[in-house]
Amino acid sequence: MWRMRSTLVRFVPAGSRKQSKWRNFEVFVHSFLRATDDAFAFTSSWTGFLESNAPSTMAAAAAAAPPARGTLREDLTCAICCDLFREPVMLACMHHFCKPCISRYWRGTQGPVSCPQCRKEFSSKHFQTNYLVTAMVEKVRATTSDSYIKNLEKQLKETLDSHRLKKEDFINAIRRDKDKMDTIKRVGADLQAHVKEEFRALHQILLNEEACSLEQLRREEEEELEKVRRHLEATELAVRELEDGIKALEQASAATENIVLAELPQLRPCVRENIAPEFDANAFRNKYMAPLQYITWRKMFKSLNPGPSPLTFDVDTAHPNIHVSRDKTAAVECDVEAPHTDSNKRFLQCVNILAAQSFQSGRHYWEVEVGSKPKWDLGVASEAVDRRARIKLSPESGYWTLRLRKGREYSAGTQPWTRLRLGSCPQRLGVFLDCEERRVSFYNADDMSLLYSFAGGPRGKAFPFFSPCISDRSQRAPPIKLLHYPPVALSG
Ligand SMILES: [Zn+2]
Ligand SMILES: [Zn+2]
Repeated sequence: MWRMRSTLVRFVPAGSRKQSKWRNFEVFVHSFLRATDDAFAFTSSWTGFLESNAPSTMAAAAAAAPPARGTLREDLTCAICCDLFREPVMLACMHHFCKPCISRYWRGTQGPVSCPQCRKEFSSKHFQTNYLVTAMVEKVRATTSDSYIKNLEKQLKETLDSHRLKKEDFINAIRRDKDKMDTIKRVGADLQAHVKEEFRALHQILLNEEACSLEQLRREEEEELEKVRRHLEATELAVRELEDGIKALEQASAATENIVLAELPQLRPCVRENIAPEFDANAFRNKYMAPLQYITWRKMFKSLNPGPSPLTFDVDTAHPNIHVSRDKTAAVECDVEAPHTDSNKRFLQCVNILAAQSFQSGRHYWEVEVGSKPKWDLGVASEAVDRRARIKLSPESGYWTLRLRKGREYSAGTQPWTRLRLGSCPQRLGVFLDCEERRVSFYNADDMSLLYSFAGGPRGKAFPFFSPCISDRSQRAPPIKLLHYPPVALSG
């Protein structure tokens, strides 16, 4: 009974308007069941009845307790006619019967009557119509019809199918999330290994530099020591020889007392005085008290992989209106054509120029100074780009570029352009080309923040690409400069 009660309460939304109705119904069922002698197996057969009052939970109830049709029907069956109650009435003993049945049963009885079920006696033929049981009977009658059951089964099947599909969708979403997490972890682990390797290489450069410096210091120290050691040994030898001479002279001197000294003893010639080597402690110290970290940092540039490539412009590729400086590190667009030779490498339509250096393997980085130029394009171009045509710069046409227009509009050279919102206006740009990974990335070389990165970069030979663009004639056009850093490479 209490199990049933809790089931009923669960189906009624708390605080709903139906709750009071349900509470009354629950009280009724409670007394109804208490009044019956047999254990009232109130289980899932309520489902049909409950469904109309709590349709949203119908499927759940049905799923939780498979229907056991018949039990409720039996409970709502008149003990006299053995059929579902017709006009059910309740006696004072709380037993229910059809009104016609109990009327017929009591017909002709004078005086006290009794309950046909519990035999309790009553002084008069009194009964009470029970509308709630009437409604339940009607419900059971309706819900046990074939069409109703068919419809219910159809609804159950549809709900079940939709739940299964939804579950499958969620399982797929979970699988996708897990795959993404695996990918993140895998890429993270790869990148960790990559960062570790890059730093290991830097550490190795420093360790090598340190070993080299210490070895040089040790050698110089040894040379200085050796010079002094040689002088020391020579001086000690001289002392020993002088001691021998002194000894011989002393012996000869003693001999003169007894015998006439015929001649001076034979002595080895006196050792010449060795010039003591100079050791300038200051000069020795100064060399190693220099700005060692900066010197080492400058030397490291040679070993960086990739370090900044010292590019130069290839004048044979320059559009005739591009003038290149004598050292081939500055290019500027001018009204007047520069003297030029015919070259099939030359850009003839667009004011473009390539670097003399090309790359088709490894990783390369270079820096370009654009200063406050309001307009430029730069990046990487495939060797095969059509230099005689006016072509929109995009990876599809063999260009991976970044561009500036109107002094503030930065875009990546995709089709259509990808506008970039930069916090500042970089004066220097860094370009990174990873041939194996086919990646072209652009950096603000002032602070090394990443501006844009192309995946699917060039295949085969590629050249650093530049366009000073056609400048505003009212101003003197500033050049694009290739940066060589550090300005002078250190030897050793
Ligand atoms: Zn009956
Ligand atoms: Zn009774």
